[in-house]
Amino acid sequence: TKFIDLGLSPKVLKAIADVGYDTPTPIQAEAIPPALEGRDVLGIAQTGTGKTAGFTLPMIHKLARGRARARMPRSLVLAPTRELAAQVAENFELYAKYVKLDMALLIGGVSFNEQDKLIDRGVDVLIATPGRLLDHFERGKLLLTGIEIMVVDEADRMLDMGFIPDIERIFKLTPFTRQTLFFSATMAPEITRITQEFLQNPTRIEV
Ligand code: AMP
Repeated sequence: TKFIDLGLSPKVLKAIADVGYDTPTPIQAEAIPPALEGRDVLGIAQTGTGKTAGFTLPMIHKLARGRARARMPRSLVLAPTRELAAQVAENFELYAKYVKLDMALLIGGVSFNEQDKLIDRGVDVLIATPGRLLDHFERGKLLLTGIEIMVVDEADRMLDMGFIPDIERIFKLTPFTRQTLFFSATMAPEITRITQEFLQNPTRIEV
C-alpha cells in the first residue's frame, strides 16, 4: 500500500512527502481508509507503530472543510499525559502544514487565560488531557456539542492513571453522531466495556 492509495487529499499527501514518509505503516494502512469513510476505529497498537499519523491524517483530511465556532471545538484528542498531548500537537502541526486548521493544546501547567483565548477564537482540533479539559468545561468556557471526531489515545494508560470515569464523562458530553477513533495497547476488561458502550460498530485493527 502507498499513501496515495489511502484516499487522502493532495494537501495531506504533500505534507507527508515533506516529512519524508515513504510507505504507510500497517496501522496507517488499515485505519486510514475506514476513518475516512466515517467509521469508528478501535486500534490495538503500541507506541512506535505510527498510530498518531493513523488518526491525525484522516482528521486533517476531514476537518479541512468547515469552520469552527467560538467555544465549540470540532474535534477532540484525549491523551493521558501533557507530554503525549504535546507530541500529538506537534504531529498535527507537521501534517496540517498545507491545511488551515486552528488548534489548541489544553494541558496543565499553562495558564487558563491563554487557553481560554484560543477556545474563544474557535478551534478545529482540541488536544487535551482529560482533567484539564473537564476543568475548562466546568468553568463554563467550552461546549463539546460540536465535536465531529473524538480520539482517545493510549486508553490503557488512561486506565492506569484512573482516567476512565473522566473519559466516560467526556464521551457523554459529545454528540452521538460523532466519529470515534480509539487506541489502546491492551484491552483490559474496563477498556473493552467502554469501547462497547461508546463505539458504534468499529473497525477493529490489531497490529
Ligand atoms: P507513533 O507510533 O505515532 O508515536 O510514531 C512513531 C514514529 O514513527 C514517529 O517518530 C513518526 O514520525 C514515525 N512514523 C509514523 N508514520 C511513519 C511512516 N509512514 N513512515 C516512517 N515513519 C513514520
